[in-house]
Amino acid sequence: MALTKQSTMLSYTEALGKILATTTTLAEEELALERLLNRYLSRAIQVQFDLPRFDNSAVDGFGVLLDDVSNASEANPARLHLKETIHAGSQGDATIKRGEAIKILTGARVPPSVEAVVMQEFCSVENGRLIVGTHAQPGENIRRQGGEFRQGDEVLPAGMRINPAVLGLIASFGQTRFFARRQPKIAIVVTGDELVKPGKPLLQGQIYESNSYALSAAVRSLGLPECIVMHTRDDRAATANVFKEALEEADIVISAGGVSVGEHDFVKVALEEDLGVQTVFWRIAIKPGKPVYFGYIDRQSRKLVFGLPGNPVSALVTFNLFVKPAIKKMQGAAIVVEDTWRAHAQNEIKKKPGRMDFVRGRLSCSETAELSVLPTRGQDSHMLSGLARANCLIHFEAEDDLISAGEIVNIQPLDWLT
Ligand code: AMP
Ligand code: MG
Repeated sequence: MALTKQSTMLSYTEALGKILATTTTLAEEELALERLLNRYLSRAIQVQFDLPRFDNSAVDGFGVLLDDVSNASEANPARLHLKETIHAGSQGDATIKRGEAIKILTGARVPPSVEAVVMQEFCSVENGRLIVGTHAQPGENIRRQGGEFRQGDEVLPAGMRINPAVLGLIASFGQTRFFARRQPKIAIVVTGDELVKPGKPLLQGQIYESNSYALSAAVRSLGLPECIVMHTRDDRAATANVFKEALEEADIVISAGGVSVGEHDFVKVALEEDLGVQTVFWRIAIKPGKPVYFGYIDRQSRKLVFGLPGNPVSALVTFNLFVKPAIKKMQGAAIVVEDTWRAHAQNEIKKKPGRMDFVRGRLSCSETAELSVLPTRGQDSHMLSGLARANCLIHFEAEDDLISAGEIVNIQPLDWLT
């Protein structure tokens, strides 16, 4: 078999561009609040009413007129007639006139006649009279109606991830349901005659199958439900059968292994020739992850197939580089690839020019707010411990052969949630 030259392989950026151009965003669905966490808003959130909805007090204190306390100080306090208390949740219809004050608790409606709320800490009550030991600014401690947003304003755009605060915001408008994109269904196919499920005894030459666990955990950490997991032997017909079933079930099929140039690698031939999957590309000038395959098939909707390499590090790194952005695009995320950060390399790193290397690194921040990064021990693509200890990938550009100690490099945080 002729080897593909590195110069004819796609670059990381080209491959990512092709994946995103092939990926289509899924339809929206209306969901109960309880099910919205970690989805993406498919519609902007518009304010249903002024926020705050009514003037209310930011503190436990006393509503006063400014003129009544204009000369008040600790030495020369104002003495006011104290009216009834307005609690949070009460109508707050009371009015005050010159010489009067009213107790108002945090979150309680501030009636229009009140010009400021003086904090309880500056006041005392003696024989039903309020002693105020300070003056007040107009509107002090009053959260004004519409101070945050006016009815109809857009608070959050479509494409934002629904985190607990976003969810709280939706609930604060009294809504019980909201719109988000359907979640992609994901099937994971692991390939290999040598693989045995954890918990079973191993024969000579066999290893424990770990990719399905790591990849389904990576999928779930994006807020997606449990994946379908399948295993195929290294056999063309068996491989085609398993992928056929996976493609019927899922929007995205992610396989691991069997996609290299070995004589037992049947993923590409089974997909292309037995199942009619359209190949978009095979092989990328990156390390780890050179053999990555990407294709699609149009059924009722478009389905994507990622043939990731079997080495556990390659599988997870390429999941992060390529599958995650595709999942996020399907989910309707506004940002599908986060910007890289800049950090100083703590030591020298070398490689051969030709492929872009995603070095597993540990990012740290000094007392003086300097980010620096150190490659983790165990950089070979079968050494999962090096990735387990990493919290970022260092981008070592294809054409470069040296990163000097102290040099500024681009890094991609490895937060499995984003
Ligand atoms: P392959 O890409 O099929 O040539 O596999 C590359 C390497 O990854 C081989 O050493 C495989 O034994 C190993 N490997 C493949 N799939 C898995 C898996 N699911 N779990 C653990 N190791 C795997
Ligand atoms: Mg294999």
